[in-house]
Amino acid sequence: MPVIKTLPEAVARQIAAGEVVERPASVIKELIENALDAGARFVSVRTVGGGADLMEVRDDGCGMSREDVQLAPRNFSTSKISYADDLLKVRTFGFRGEALAAISSVSRLDISSNDREGGEGWRITVEGGAVIRNGPAPHEQGTTVRVEDLFFNTPARKKFLKTELTERRRMLETILAFALASPDVEFHYAEEEKPVLDLLPVSSWGQRIAAVMGGSTMKHMVEVNTDEPPLRLKGFVSLPTYTRSSRNHQFCFVNGRLVREKTLIRAVQEAYRTVVPSKRFPTVVLSLEVPYEDVDVNVHPTKTEVRLRNENRIFDLVRRSIKRSLGPKSETKLSVSYPAAVVAPADGGATMRRDAAPVVEEPALFVGVRETPANPETEKYKARVRAAVGSYMDAAKNRHDFSPFLSLRSHGAEEPAGATAAEAREHIQPDDALFWQFHNTYIFIQVRNGIVVIDQHAAHERIIFDTSKKQIESEIPVSQQILFPITLELSVSELAIFRETKDIVHKLGFQLEPFGGTSILVRGYPQGLKNWEEGALVRHLFDDLLSDRMPGSSHAERIVASFACRSAVKAGQKLAVEEMKMLADQLFAVENPYSCPHGRPTIFRLSLEEIDHWFSRR
Ligand code: ADP
Ligand code: MG
Repeated sequence: MPVIKTLPEAVARQIAAGEVVERPASVIKELIENALDAGARFVSVRTVGGGADLMEVRDDGCGMSREDVQLAPRNFSTSKISYADDLLKVRTFGFRGEALAAISSVSRLDISSNDREGGEGWRITVEGGAVIRNGPAPHEQGTTVRVEDLFFNTPARKKFLKTELTERRRMLETILAFALASPDVEFHYAEEEKPVLDLLPVSSWGQRIAAVMGGSTMKHMVEVNTDEPPLRLKGFVSLPTYTRSSRNHQFCFVNGRLVREKTLIRAVQEAYRTVVPSKRFPTVVLSLEVPYEDVDVNVHPTKTEVRLRNENRIFDLVRRSIKRSLGPKSETKLSVSYPAAVVAPADGGATMRRDAAPVVEEPALFVGVRETPANPETEKYKARVRAAVGSYMDAAKNRHDFSPFLSLRSHGAEEPAGATAAEAREHIQPDDALFWQFHNTYIFIQVRNGIVVIDQHAAHERIIFDTSKKQIESEIPVSQQILFPITLELSVSELAIFRETKDIVHKLGFQLEPFGGTSILVRGYPQGLKNWEEGALVRHLFDDLLSDRMPGSSHAERIVASFACRSAVKAGQKLAVEEMKMLADQLFAVENPYSCPHGRPTIFRLSLEEIDHWFSRR
């Protein structure tokens, strides 16, 4: 008996659907592509339940005839190519003719369309691939596609959906990418019946970029414009002084299609190589036009990967053009300020990444935020550190009553202003000599039976993380008012993050409020916060949350983790003895002093015994 059998069509379709329809944002992407392929000048998107309950895209494009409406959800049905050769010069977003079919096999898909002014349109409803309604229905010229109950028949896929917030943020990002690429198209977006985005058509690309990225970002951008037929590159790139902590703000379009393409990413990186610190990323919006036959878009079902011919020439063009724009005179070419987007506040998703800090090579000792099952090695290590810390704490008892988290000075390590040498000496406790800052990064403390080494950034991060977590539970924000409140102009995605984090951020002590358009007003920040940097800290927070990398199981935890990482002293910052002591005291007072929120160890202990052993004393 043969064991190989042909899969039933429905199963095969669901498997194939997995490649195209990964999550709600991928559905949104396919539907907007179809609308733009149909020549729409107006695209309106509506979603409910993070896209899982409903996604609807309406357009005023060419629409479909009643015959076409019925063909559209069938597999390999497309009006965009007819012959295999056409694949070599695809000008439309779509061409595989599988998106609607794939979507219909994992949801309830409803298409209404009309290809003429006036008259009646046609409507078809397909559920899990089977047609359940098919007939005439009123519709203006254009198309409305509704996708309900995504993954209702594939529970395994449904389980893989991230939180509603994350899915919402991804959908917003997807829509924004299209909005960036098509300034002449009007875009509307409503989430849970609330308007999020209303972008009117504009004639200049700069205006649309400003509306999406925020006018203040635009002030730091210079124009790129190079015409070297058949290649053409245009766009805006930020000055080296304006960078972000992730590539989230880099958009590269090839023939209008948003792509992640290594040649372009490398070329951008290369152009900034000597002027931007590592792990910092400029903001770029670039559009490359190449002959259609020089791009292979049929590399990946979601079409985000493309293959370019003449890679070297393109690499060189991009790198050279950016460098030229960043040249010495670029400052004077700074773009004029553009009006902010007409935007209603929105919701998005959240998580993050950490700041660069030296990594201690002790992987076996990692202790995660979520307690991992007890590992005997880890337990042994903890016990050793605990013993060392115990002796330290005995000595430190009654030393001082510190206000917990941000009492460390983050700049310089001079004695407090006005302190005379005599007074300063007063401060020095007999055991001061037992604190030593190594490479402005690690604190060495002599304890009874050896030394304890603390990673100052990781440790401070842990302290702030723990105290802030308590702080947001206590509901009484402690903030410091700013004499002259400042406004921060945000991008549309940052505004979405602001909306969704504002309650927690408020409890941390920030006083932020919407200020019209995409701007927010900052009236205060957490008491004692030192790396406030005129609001840059708030941006860093939003940046982190946008890039989905922060540890933590809850939304609040991720926000706190970002805050802790951003406000902690950095590696490389000089600390005064008093500050080192305070850091150590605070660290040993928290519940889990052994690792930072990212799971990296904060403390390492070396026993006298081990040292003796090195020198063959024992
Ligand atoms: P593809 O875009 O790869 O051709 P799809 O499954 O996305 O495949 O769509 C199938 C066909 O349905 C398209 O080729 C197009 O003719 C038609 N279609 C889909 N959406 C629209 C729309 N919004 N307006 C007009 N025609 C559409
Ligand atoms: Mg399509």
